[in-house]
Amino acid sequence: MLKIGCHLSASKGFTHMIEEALSIDANVFQFFTRNPRGGKAKDIDMADIEKFLELKKNINFGPILAHAPYTLNACSADERTRIFAHEVMADDLRRMDFVPGNMYNFHPGSHVGQGIDKGIELICQTLNDILKVEHQTKVLLETMAGKGSEVGSTFEELKRIIDGVELNEKIGVCLDTCHVFDAGYDIVNDLDGVLDEFDKIIGLDRLCAIHLNDTKNSFESHKDRHEKIGEGSLGLDAISNIINNERLKNLPFYLETPNDVSGYREEIALIRSVSN
Ligand code: FE
Ligand code: FE
Ligand code: ZN
Repeated sequence: MLKIGCHLSASKGFTHMIEEALSIDANVFQFFTRNPRGGKAKDIDMADIEKFLELKKNINFGPILAHAPYTLNACSADERTRIFAHEVMADDLRRMDFVPGNMYNFHPGSHVGQGIDKGIELICQTLNDILKVEHQTKVLLETMAGKGSEVGSTFEELKRIIDGVELNEKIGVCLDTCHVFDAGYDIVNDLDGVLDEFDKIIGLDRLCAIHLNDTKNSFESHKDRHEKIGEGSLGLDAISNIINNERLKNLPFYLETPNDVSGYREEIALIRSVSN
């Protein structure tokens, strides 16, 4: 069965998220580990986590995807910003071990004029510092649109990050359909060509999750503005090809479209209706 869900608010805890997901026919979900601007995380609520794990055990659900605050920048030119990213990510990974076997997604960062080589070096440094053998969470690099000096808008850059990480058996990739189209990968007219390229450069065994979004922008615009499914430059046919593709259909799909929960319910129903 297709694994489809959406981004949910974590403010009421894990049990609330899984109940909300089930109420809109989702069997996966994504959430921010803390305020997207990077504030302090809530205290771990063991009763909530135990209830969540108990609920999850008896149904076909998951994996869940934690998303790091999008303002973190592990390759900033400012040392304090890098230290902050380092501390937040290390703390997030420690907390994720309370719900073992899931995934943690982050934006590689922006090199802000230091150049791509320096950016990649700093990202690898952070990952090499924080990843521990005992961690039970897959850490995903998100494919970026290439806005400003964002690192990770090409498969080659993502591969260089992976190669620079010692414990890289813990590293995977989350492909964002809005971002890759904005970055210049034509998943509308040549999805299989794009997947061949991903496989050649990174290896499809690294692909662990899909952020399923339409885009407000035109091809190769390097902009990153998400649109509702079927209402943007990708269109419903392209989305349908993605979720039904032989090489993708068993991955979990997470919607990050501009919707409230009832809008997500409709989108999940729409996507399930075009799933083979
Ligand atoms: Fe993201
Ligand atoms: Fe995304
Ligand atoms: Zn985005």
